[in-house]
Amino acid sequence: MEIIDGKELAREIRGELKKEVENLRKNGIIPKLAVIMVGDDKASSVYVRNKSKACDEIGIEFEEYLKDENTTQEELIELIKSLNNRKDIHGILLQSPIPKGLDIREAFNTIDYTKDVDGFNPINVGKLSIGEDCFISCTPHGVIKMLEKYNIQTEGKRAVIIGRSNIVGKPLIQCLLNKNATVTVCHSKTQNIKDITSQADILVAALGKPKFVTADMVKEGATVIDVGINRNEDGKLVGDVDFEEVSKKASYITPVPGGVGPMTIAMLMHNVVKSAKSLK
Ligand code: NAP
Repeated sequence: MEIIDGKELAREIRGELKKEVENLRKNGIIPKLAVIMVGDDKASSVYVRNKSKACDEIGIEFEEYLKDENTTQEELIELIKSLNNRKDIHGILLQSPIPKGLDIREAFNTIDYTKDVDGFNPINVGKLSIGEDCFISCTPHGVIKMLEKYNIQTEGKRAVIIGRSNIVGKPLIQCLLNKNATVTVCHSKTQNIKDITSQADILVAALGKPKFVTADMVKEGATVIDVGINRNEDGKLVGDVDFEEVSKKASYITPVPGGVGPMTIAMLMHNVVKSAKSLK
């Protein structure tokens, strides 16, 4: 069994991006990411801080818009439009969740698709589904990069994803299909889930339930990717997979923390640099 070291892989990717940013800067292009956060969700603050740190390390400028929870939909949309119009900004990210009462879908749809580094705008979602060049949602993209870097074959393999959210499960279906896997997706209404997961050569858990995937749900020698980020009773970060037991059966497995999480941020940085390069 080999542990897929997302932390190390993400470090390598950030190193490569740093060189690309140095070159862009020599050509007078300074990549810049604008992040909007509405309200004071604690987990979001940590994610935004980590994104800001990654930008710093790579040489991407970072502009933060912290809006209070009374921000109206109109104000949010106006802010996004003003950032769309700024030539010096290459990426716009709206941190979710935003307060109830605001329409996040309208907000995502307003972000110019050429600056939509999260890949949530329907134009990017559509482009991904027909295999066109686009911004791919960062977590699924990170999962694919991990498989590629560890030379894990996808073509002809049976991939099973647990979770069908717009930000992880659904775009990952497309990503794996584009890599010629045979993809099955499970969700909360799926019956006999174990019968399905135990056929997977590649099993991705993205449901947000601590230690949901147990060893009896996993095929011997499978690759197991744990997207979940949950806190257990002791406040410790745990994934959706029972790492200790499942790692005895898997051929490759990602840890939590240090797996998909750092890759998500690395792929966000990748998308900002991609956007800046496209404006050369
Ligand atoms: P989400 O929007 O809550 O979606 C969860 C999905 O899991 C839904 O499709 C749901 O099915 C399905 N599900 C829930 N309970 C299930 C069950 N018992 N059996 C089968 N399927 C079940 O979550 P998300 O935003 O995709 O995030 C999922 C997890 O990944 C969370 O722990 C989140 O923190 C983590 N995450 C990590 C990263 C990272 O960078 N590592 C990034 C994003 C998210 P229905 O559609 O039927 O409700």
